[in-house]
Amino acid sequence: MSMTPVPLPDPAQPGPTGADAPAPSIALQRMAPDGRTTLGVLGGGQLGRMFVHAAQALGFRVAVLDPDPASPAAAAADAHVHTAYLDPAGLQALAAQCAAITTEFENVPAAALQSLAAQRVVAPPASAVQVCQHRAAEKRCFVAAGVPCAPFAVIDSAADLAAAAQSVSFPAILKTSQLGYDGKGQRAVADAAALPAAFDALGGVPCVLEQRLPLALEISVIVARGADGQVVALPPQQNLHRDGVLAVTQVPAPDVAPATAAAALQAAQGLAHALGYVGVLCVEFFVLADGSLVANEMAPRPHNSGHYSIDACDLSQFDLQVRTLAGLPLVAPRLHSPAVMLNLLGDLWFAPSDAPSNAPSTAATPRTPDWPALLALPGVHLHLYGKAEPRPGRKMGHLTVTAVTPQAARGVALQVAVRLGLPAF
Ligand code: ADP
Ligand code: MG
Repeated sequence: MSMTPVPLPDPAQPGPTGADAPAPSIALQRMAPDGRTTLGVLGGGQLGRMFVHAAQALGFRVAVLDPDPASPAAAAADAHVHTAYLDPAGLQALAAQCAAITTEFENVPAAALQSLAAQRVVAPPASAVQVCQHRAAEKRCFVAAGVPCAPFAVIDSAADLAAAAQSVSFPAILKTSQLGYDGKGQRAVADAAALPAAFDALGGVPCVLEQRLPLALEISVIVARGADGQVVALPPQQNLHRDGVLAVTQVPAPDVAPATAAAALQAAQGLAHALGYVGVLCVEFFVLADGSLVANEMAPRPHNSGHYSIDACDLSQFDLQVRTLAGLPLVAPRLHSPAVMLNLLGDLWFAPSDAPSNAPSTAATPRTPDWPALLALPGVHLHLYGKAEPRPGRKMGHLTVTAVTPQAARGVALQVAVRLGLPAF
């Protein structure tokens, strides 16, 4: 990639639109962090907020498009376009002020990205986001790239149920093809007889039936790919989920053999190339008892399992997102401290023990966890997302412990867990 700066698009002059618009020339864009250039982000949750922090640290302005007036990202951004994702006026307002636009969650309508891409640099490309939005497309992408995934069958309608039950071994998991997250949109299916009821329970929408695999552990890999095809990666993360939601991430991954880590990195890189990806991509993998690797799903954005990189790496996943979007140089991030990340869900705001165990925790009184007690521990980095209303299961923040050794980081993280009333790991 040439080091010569290229002229910035004039934010006052919306670019060409319509069918004759040239494909966006992402490779030719290099945006100077000059205090005037604005980067845009579709979506205003915590991922967008951490993107805002990274972009602003580099001297960019940031505009966020999000329908939520209380958007955590918009609260930190320079501008908030407060409309629905497909609102033409909102998209035009974003395009008018931004030199380049990214997304912070995969369910942003692809049509919104496409319409922006007619005018501005958009990364990742809508085509890649569309693949990651759809479990069947995602699995086909794994297969085409030669990356193993769980045996699966696509169910578009009830007419496909019998054939799916024939081709997938049970026990299995039925997952909606779209809009699932944090274990939502999934049903365990014990046997073929239970499949129709599970399909009905999920609303009869298109699904993927996938064999339940005996997981030894779960890992994820985050790569960043520039417009010139260069790829850099964070070290593989080892992830523990509780009730389908990420709970703990450890880096370096304590139980992952070097060959497995290398295979995961290679697979993630191959997928980024196959998708013509520009931006930060996370690939979740299962590791089976025999050490073999199975791709689970991809996220076309920074990922919860990469939040530790803010405090434990010399370049975070959000720094990489900014650099790929702005066409700035990519250098390999270095893990300078072993880290353990704990997710802070809204459950922590509700008194755990004095309510009857079968009472809904929403019935209890919210309380603020004792943050000062945690901040008194060494190497604790607390990140709260500025969400006013705690709700059980809601991601309110995360906490990363860094230390000189993995054992020391784990030791402090276990103390944090005890003080928060979280299970050990
Ligand atoms: P989500 O989009 O909600 O993250 P996932 O497909 O990643 O959905 O599933 C959530 C969790 O459920 C996974 O992290 C894993 O713990 C478990 N899981 C999902 N698919 C399988 C499977 N085929 N076999 C075993 N466990 C699975
Ligand atoms: Mg997942």
